[in-house]
Amino acid sequence: MQPTTIAADAVVTIHYQLTLDDGSIADSSFGGEPLTYLHGHGNLVPGLERQMVGKAVGAKFDAAVAAADGYGEYDPDADRTVPRSAFPKNAQLSPGMGFHTEDEQGHVVPLFVREIKGDEVVVTTNHPLAGQRLNFTIEVLKVRKATKEELSHGHVHGPGGHHH
Ligand code: ZN
Repeated sequence: MQPTTIAADAVVTIHYQLTLDDGSIADSSFGGEPLTYLHGHGNLVPGLERQMVGKAVGAKFDAAVAAADGYGEYDPDADRTVPRSAFPKNAQLSPGMGFHTEDEQGHVVPLFVREIKGDEVVVTTNHPLAGQRLNFTIEVLKVRKATKEELSHGHVHGPGGHHH
């Protein structure tokens, strides 16, 4: 039996549009490739993942997510200035660009470029959308059971997912 509504361990295919409070569209899959994700494994921002639960194939709905349940509140102390030479020479740096680094404990920390000032780069752990309310429009296209392998990896394989 394949599930028809969204619950933990389902593989879910959606179209989504993300609109900010100023009316600008930050991201949209409508008219392009839909997003396929493994539900219940932290692959969406927490406030959106919670509102997906129980939705059926064909459902189209709006979901507003507070900053704290989205990309986090804006932390003004999260900016650091590092020399440009800390990055690979050929890296094309631009504001909003994300990458990963490791903290002293070896945990992976996402970092974003905030500003480039000559030989210095301001990086921040604030996500570019931190502090913003996220207004999603979601359309549920497909729901299926995850395979054992997908569950052990915590992500989707095949179309729209990882290939490895
Ligand atoms: Zn995998």
